[in-house]
Amino acid sequence: MHISLLDIVFPATCIVCGAKPKPICPTCLPSACVAELPGFDFPVLAGFKHEGAIEKVITGYKDQQLVSLEPPLAKLVAQVLHEVGVSRFSAIVTPARNHLNYRKRGFDPANSLVSRAVRGLAKPPKVISLSSTRKLEDQRRLGRLERARNVSESMKLDLKPSGPVLLFDDVLTTGSTIREMSRACRAAGVEVGASCVLAERFSIF
Ligand SMILES: [Zn+2]
Repeated sequence: MHISLLDIVFPATCIVCGAKPKPICPTCLPSACVAELPGFDFPVLAGFKHEGAIEKVITGYKDQQLVSLEPPLAKLVAQVLHEVGVSRFSAIVTPARNHLNYRKRGFDPANSLVSRAVRGLAKPPKVISLSSTRKLEDQRRLGRLERARNVSESMKLDLKPSGPVLLFDDVLTTGSTIREMSRACRAAGVEVGASCVLAERFSIF
């Protein structure tokens, strides 16, 4: 099958139902329903379970690099930020870039999505990316313990916001990334007010 560059940037049909409108029909765009996840010593809120329509859209954006899905996904991130009460925070902090994924994709999904999502706000908070202290493996190839070991003490906060921050990541699986983000902020003397993710496939087992 021949795949042109245009198919990579713009899927031929809706990513969810396969009908003609692209990249997604308005009726196929799901709605966020924010819920708190158990097992963390700071609030962790998720807009979606990583399944069904949202899984297709996120996978299309992150793994197939369908960048035309970024605006509709950013709309969903904006919904989540609104429900979390984004105006309470002095800044939004995103994970340090994984160099392997960044080389493959050419963009940083969490930072790009949240940066686009805050553009519509009257007083958009600053979006700060953590920096890496070393190179990491791709988390998706690793099990729970290996993931925790992989990211442990791998991030640092260079810019210090004046008040509590909101942590943001696109997908939460074991929680090891968000825990490391929290550790890095606290190590820099910054209060973690809350954290949120677009979608979670968290299991405590
Ligand atoms: Zn559709």
